[in-house]
Amino acid sequence: MTKSKYDVVVIGAGPTGSTAARFAAENGASVLILERDREPGIPVRCAEGVSHAGLIRFIEPDPKWIAAKIEVAKLISPNGEVAYMHQNGTGYVLERRIFDTELCNIACSKGAELLTKADAIGLIFENEKIIGVKYKYLGEIKEVFCNIVIGADGIESRVGRWAGIKTDLALEDVDTCVQYTMTNINLDEEACEFYFGQNVSPGGYLWVFPKSKTTANVGIGIAGHLAEKKGPKEYLDEFIEKRFPNGKINYTVFGGVPTAATLKEIVKDNIMLVGDAARQVNPITGGGIIQGMVAAKICGIIAGEAVQNSKFEKKFLKKYRKEWDKELGNNQKVMFSLKEKFMCMTDERFNNLVKFCNSVPQEEFTTAALFKRAVKDDPKLVLDIAKAFVVSKLKK
Ligand SMILES: Cc1cc2nc3c(=O)[nH]c(=O)nc-3n(C[C@H](O)[C@H](O)[C@H](O)COP(=O)(O)OP(=O)(O)OC[C@H]3O[C@@H](n4cnc5c(N)ncnc54)[C@H](O)[C@@H]3O)c2cc1C
Repeated sequence: MTKSKYDVVVIGAGPTGSTAARFAAENGASVLILERDREPGIPVRCAEGVSHAGLIRFIEPDPKWIAAKIEVAKLISPNGEVAYMHQNGTGYVLERRIFDTELCNIACSKGAELLTKADAIGLIFENEKIIGVKYKYLGEIKEVFCNIVIGADGIESRVGRWAGIKTDLALEDVDTCVQYTMTNINLDEEACEFYFGQNVSPGGYLWVFPKSKTTANVGIGIAGHLAEKKGPKEYLDEFIEKRFPNGKINYTVFGGVPTAATLKEIVKDNIMLVGDAARQVNPITGGGIIQGMVAAKICGIIAGEAVQNSKFEKKFLKKYRKEWDKELGNNQKVMFSLKEKFMCMTDERFNNLVKFCNSVPQEEFTTAALFKRAVKDDPKLVLDIAKAFVVSKLKK
């Protein structure tokens, strides 16, 4: 039985909701997580790739939610040349169905409570102050009261809007994605593949993330404004026809990835936003699992401190913003300013970059080396980066 009042109510049991709940509970708050689905982690709308270095900040890797261990990234240029990047650290392709549940279990082991099939439908206000959440549970409308609401309700987040926060995204700042989980294909289980080019995935990339020797998440993300004439599914189908002609499609998912900077406003009195809901995603790679969990840890700790000090106003909660910017938010702003450069790269430049990669000794071939080369090809990039840094500092 859930109680009628908690210190913190978290809306959404994705990786960021569970992580925020875990750290808020660990820091002394009573926490309820509301999740609209039957269980955390389903449906999976994700390619499920994470780095080992990022993951171990939160949890020890466990074979029960790891589908494949990745040791190499293959970058494939528009002309078909392949570069093998071995020095970028180990990565994993997860089983998010199980991983998300595990994160939620950890939060519950720290004292948080979880209610599934609980669809948040609005905030409760008293004299314009947020005092709780209204939700639908098994056909009934219910209410739960709290001092802080944490909105971790993903890209389609409504919690921010309910609180009067501007959450709109420009079309070019949402990647439209389609992904098939395929079987009956032949793969190197330890290699993720990334395909680039104007005819393959304009303004984005196409990925093959193996889950075993014969199964993989095969997907594509392209900038919303470039998907008007030809949609991502058409690009993906063309690719699959050539690369995996005998492959079978088991599941199809459609989804969006916010590729913007973090929202201007991620806290107000009695409310905090986190993860995709706050647009805390790497705007170039589209990776949001670890980046969101980093934000969620800060968010949860500050929520716990707010409870300990009985301070629920924006003035106190904005510590979360400050710490987030220091940790990754400013970096995200810089990446966002550089995204345009990546989106406009010609096939010729991609070809040159991959050619360059192949001329570098394996042990020196890292993302940093790649970046240096991109700068050498386009010295103005240095100026753009410097400008982006200064702007991000000034806006702090
Ligand atoms: C096709 C695709 C591929 C991707 N691949 C990668 C990848 O390889 N690596 C990576 O790092 N990132 C990837 N991402 C991004 C990543 O999936 C997200 O950044 C990440 O899931 C964000 O976590 P979250 O907890 O903020 O939101 P979510 O994981 O979206 O969780 C939100 C939760 O809130 C619940 N919810 C929503 N509304 C309500 C409500 N009203 N009431 C109650 N519950 C609610 C939902 O049911 C859901 O469980 C990909 C995204 C897409 C679309």
